[in-house]
Amino acid sequence: MNFDLEFVKQAFGALGNVLTVLKQAKDLLPEGGKKVEVAKAIENAEKELKNAEAESARALGYQLCRNHWPAEIMLSKDNLNWKCPVCGNEIKYKKQENPLKNNNLL
Ligand SMILES: [Zn+2]
Repeated sequence: MNFDLEFVKQAFGALGNVLTVLKQAKDLLPEGGKKVEVAKAIENAEKELKNAEAESARALGYQLCRNHWPAEIMLSKDNLNWKCPVCGNEIKYKKQENPLKNNNLL
């Protein structure tokens, strides 16, 4: 099996569909405490799912935009310059960058 971003997208897309069905099922619940509880659980699951998808993409070498939560997968045409499809944040490739600057410790 080819573990690439397409595979990740499909897997997370399927999970997203499950959440959509759950949301529709939730609407059938009577108004009250349980419905609120279920809605909250689904909302949290959506955020976790989005974050897990972003982290999977990061593991595959994609950059993440952390200007917002959940983090968004940034896109690149050349694997050097990256752009966030949500907020437009960009990472520009710099030729002589000090590699120590990339580990967020400095
Ligand atoms: Zn962004």
